[in-house]
Amino acid sequence: MKAVNLFDFDLDGLAAFCLGLGEKRFRAQQLFRWIHQRGVRDFAQMSDLAKDFRAKLAGVAVVEPLQRISEHVSADGTIKWLFDVGQGNAVEAVFIPEDDRGTLCVSSQAGCAVGCRFCSTGHQGFSRNLSTGEIVAQLWYAEHSLRMRRAAGEKLVLPKNDGTARIISNVVMMGMGEPLQNYDALVPALRTFLSDHAYGLSRRRVTVSTSGVVPMMDRLREDCPVALAVSLHAPLDPLRDHLVPLNKKYPIAELMQACARYVQSAPRDFITFEYCMLDGVNDKLEHAQALLSLMRASGVPGKFNLIPFNPFPESGLKRSAPQAVSAFAKLLQDGAIVTTVRKTRGDDIDAACGQLAGEVQDRTQAVVRMHKRRAGDVLALGDEVNA
Ligand code: SAH
Ligand code: SF4
Repeated sequence: MKAVNLFDFDLDGLAAFCLGLGEKRFRAQQLFRWIHQRGVRDFAQMSDLAKDFRAKLAGVAVVEPLQRISEHVSADGTIKWLFDVGQGNAVEAVFIPEDDRGTLCVSSQAGCAVGCRFCSTGHQGFSRNLSTGEIVAQLWYAEHSLRMRRAAGEKLVLPKNDGTARIISNVVMMGMGEPLQNYDALVPALRTFLSDHAYGLSRRRVTVSTSGVVPMMDRLREDCPVALAVSLHAPLDPLRDHLVPLNKKYPIAELMQACARYVQSAPRDFITFEYCMLDGVNDKLEHAQALLSLMRASGVPGKFNLIPFNPFPESGLKRSAPQAVSAFAKLLQDGAIVTTVRKTRGDDIDAACGQLAGEVQDRTQAVVRMHKRRAGDVLALGDEVNA
């Protein structure tokens, strides 16, 4: 029988597993703390667990981390890790240190089936969903390897000590993949990030970013409300249909209604809207004006985060000029919408948004389908929306 990987369980899952071995929930809490708070994988080292429980665990369970393929450290301190997830697939996680926080950008899938035009993960196609364990193991590796390196005195850019042993204070599900298309694995992973017996992160500091999988937004609101970021990228359906193909299934009006429902149980009283600034495509003042109208009509309390496009060769798209980005931001701000421009971090190591490209065995022919759509379509559509 194959050993169970304990990274696959949230605390309830682990308690059920331990119950099956004849152990009380309290034992599962201790085990969960050894693994996630102390970073210990070897049952023999878990000194306050009864010897016979440790022996039972050793026969049926493992704590199996991801194999790291590579590490790149950016001049700004950002670190990108590439992890092997088997069968020729690899995924990336990115650590972004700032003074007051340490953020980990986590992947949810090998590849992505949504196929957004401006995203290099989307251009790779889709291979498979990550398991809960593979999602959690990214945070486990980042947190505990950084702690060990800090203890060894290595020179690293780290956030200021917040009075805890912790280095990572924020998680954003903004790596490879669409987290809400891997819902069943995502939720136990989020619960582990939040659990006081594991990483103890605040709900406001765990963000799920989605291209707009409406039914799953509703389920997340019920099952595990965390901060939500919605990748909007266009104010009107024809342009969004082309940039984010999922829009054909869940158009903007439905998406905004789902946002309005979500915000009622969200840990923050607003939704963050991400908007990738593409030169000549979605970055004109008319687009900003249309966004203002959309926000007013929908009544959704939202903040905008403008992301300067991070180019990659196959996209055929260009980053908006800085003046276009600031004029766009000003128009939204003048319309009383809080708007920030995302700082690009780690672009010297291809760790910036949309540059994560791991290794993906495209099993769905998404790439082939995408290439059938000409890059020129998008530019033409941008003009159409302006007209
Ligand atoms: N699938 C989810 C989360 C991963 S992408 C989503 O789409 O929301 C995280 C963010 O990076 C999204 O807002 C996405 O639109 C943005 N992004 C993707 N490619 C990009 C690129 N080339 N340049 C800048 N931002 C990009
Ligand atoms: Fe997938 Fe998000 Fe990239 Fe779109 S932007 S292809 S949803 S990872």
